[in-house]
Amino acid sequence: MTITMDRPTDVYSRPNARFNGDGILEVRASAVGNCRRALWLEATGHQVTNPRSDDSLTMLEAGNALEPVVLRAMQRAGWDITPTDRDNPRMVSLRLGPTLAVSGHVDAAGVAPIFGLEPSIVEVKTRGPEAYKKWRTLGAERSHPESVWQAAFYTYGAFDQARDVVIATLDTGNRAWDYEVIPAHRVERAFEQACSRLGELAAHHLVNGPDPYALPERDFTADDWQCKRCPFLNACLPGTAAVEPQSEDETAEDAEPVTDEAARAALREYEQAQEMLKAIEEDKQWALGMLRTWLGQRGEQKARLEGREKTRTVGMVKNTRYNVDHKRLNALLDPETRAGIVTENVSSYLRVS
Ligand code: SF4
Repeated sequence: MTITMDRPTDVYSRPNARFNGDGILEVRASAVGNCRRALWLEATGHQVTNPRSDDSLTMLEAGNALEPVVLRAMQRAGWDITPTDRDNPRMVSLRLGPTLAVSGHVDAAGVAPIFGLEPSIVEVKTRGPEAYKKWRTLGAERSHPESVWQAAFYTYGAFDQARDVVIATLDTGNRAWDYEVIPAHRVERAFEQACSRLGELAAHHLVNGPDPYALPERDFTADDWQCKRCPFLNACLPGTAAVEPQSEDETAEDAEPVTDEAARAALREYEQAQEMLKAIEEDKQWALGMLRTWLGQRGEQKARLEGREKTRTVGMVKNTRYNVDHKRLNALLDPETRAGIVTENVSSYLRVS
């Protein structure tokens, strides 16, 4: 493994994969978790069949634009942050064998407040509220392993060894941010996982050369979001782009057809019911406040009172909540151990907003 660094100007707009002037397959560090077939299609110059929509590009640009906001928030929270000069970013490049290199630009290096001793790579991510919650609860190695792989490459590229990595994430919905520290020994393991994944692509290159028609195996299937957002979807899986994803508990097929007019009537019913519930809830809260004051003025925790149909007990109830500090838990336990402790349940419901 050799390490080189230079200062290219196209670092923010480079393709995810390309063959450089020496015939080396160069993969962007931010794309190490991408489908290897998609990387190959891009590097070998296949035409994009499913370009990003304008909305998706706007989301991407908004995420990039918010990264300095997170770094400034970290500085205000006491971190010693050295952000990359975005006008002249330093590229870090790692050679993995004779046919493949991984390169990218580091968001920042940072030293934690008070107890931080040496700079770590800080990888900044922006996520919607659901993805943010998932990251905080499960930890980056389980929720977004590719972000840890990316930061691991930067760490080895910048320091030539494993070090703690900091994943700093902004919740774009609630404008909250937080960070997670991945300890060095787990960064080393993430680096090995990513190298092994890319090693297969390097071997493919070694055997086939830059042959655009010798395609690596697909890493995902048409149901995966990676395929749904893939710029080569129509070339790789023709005929699947127009297929609407079916939810696992799809029941629409069995139900009677519902007209738009019937749906509008149902929505109006729903709105009316919501209004009534709101008024009832306000009355309930007013009554509870009054009873709380009455109980407090009596100096009692519990009392009996005549109701409409029976005598009821009015009393204060203590409710204890137990909070888990996911950040500390994630730092202490490896992802496999956490998987046995923090489990995931997915349910779905209809929301009208
Ligand atoms: S469509 Fe799916 S399997 Fe095919 S290249 Fe894209 S991500 Fe890979």
